[in-house]
Amino acid sequence: MSQARRPILELPDELISQIAAGEVVERPASVVRELLDNALDAGATQITLRLSAGGVRLISLEDDGDGIVPEQMATALKRHATSKIASLAELEAVGTMGFRGEALAAINSIAELALLSRAAGQSNAWMLDGRTGELKPAARAGGTTVEVKELFFSVPARRKFLKTDATELAHCIEAVRRHALARPDVGFAIWHEGKLVEQWRRQSGEDARDRRVADVLGEDFLANSIAVDHRAGAVRVTGRAGLPDAARSRADQQFAYVNGRFVRDKVIVHAARSAYEDVLHGHRQPVYVLFVELDPARVDVNVHPTKIEVRFRDGREVHQAVRHAVDQALAAPRAALLAQAAT
Ligand code: ADP
Ligand code: MG
Repeated sequence: MSQARRPILELPDELISQIAAGEVVERPASVVRELLDNALDAGATQITLRLSAGGVRLISLEDDGDGIVPEQMATALKRHATSKIASLAELEAVGTMGFRGEALAAINSIAELALLSRAAGQSNAWMLDGRTGELKPAARAGGTTVEVKELFFSVPARRKFLKTDATELAHCIEAVRRHALARPDVGFAIWHEGKLVEQWRRQSGEDARDRRVADVLGEDFLANSIAVDHRAGAVRVTGRAGLPDAARSRADQQFAYVNGRFVRDKVIVHAARSAYEDVLHGHRQPVYVLFVELDPARVDVNVHPTKIEVRFRDGREVHQAVRHAVDQALAAPRAALLAQAAT
């Protein structure tokens, strides 16, 4: 279509935020993921998520973290405003889950957001209305509650892509599950329509990780998996590798983390899969929870707005470490399988 040349205009702020929000917020679970990241970055030890209509009508995430002082609450909702990095050098070795300073701004542009927070030293909490900017005293113990109502109310096109409440709820629970596996030291509770649907208590002690795996993925998962613990140079790989018999038809129980962040990463998936090559047949998918730890400067987490993808400086190094780690864990079951085949 040939259209008369229109002038080039700078977009209004609100529209810029709404466009950017499209990259970060696809569905209620995306909001849950961002709010969980923030709560964990604030040092929360107990996180409570309350949902209504699968998160479309309401997402409320409550933490007992550091809180935000009232003078900073409006800034927290601004685009590219963050307390987590202040320089390129800090970005290159970032240790927090967040750092882009865009989640709250994005969410605020496509939903009704309210921020309720009480920082240490404050005699009371404060509540900020994201729409009007009104700040007023409120009641709350130390920590932050972010309330997000009517997601996509102003973006009907997006709202149409949402699935049933039950499906959206399942995605929200999955988002919490991913965080919970990595943080057994934090307690999580999920409520939907006023009913408690999941609760994972804080774990401590040496077997905290295993206890959390059993809580989140079931005792069977733990019983049918083997501990992974391997260090190759600067890369450490820990977690659980499922026995060949525990493999599934779908790759829906593969949890991979890089420096505590849940990721979808081809290098890790391929390395793990190749360790199972001789013990898994057909299209059976292994199950595992793998934590890859390496110097933050050797991995770029600023690849995708949702930070679910990472780029390794040396992919081969990570591939080898993961493959060896899983290989080692599978040594005993592999020997048993081979012995069985020989008789
Ligand atoms: P980012 O996490 O990338 O910094 P966000 O938009 O998610 O960007 O959050 C902006 C800022 O608001 C954070 O840097 C943090 O200082 C503050 N903040 C957000 N959520 C919380 C929370 N639950 N507890 C304490 N501070 C928070
Ligand atoms: Mg954030």
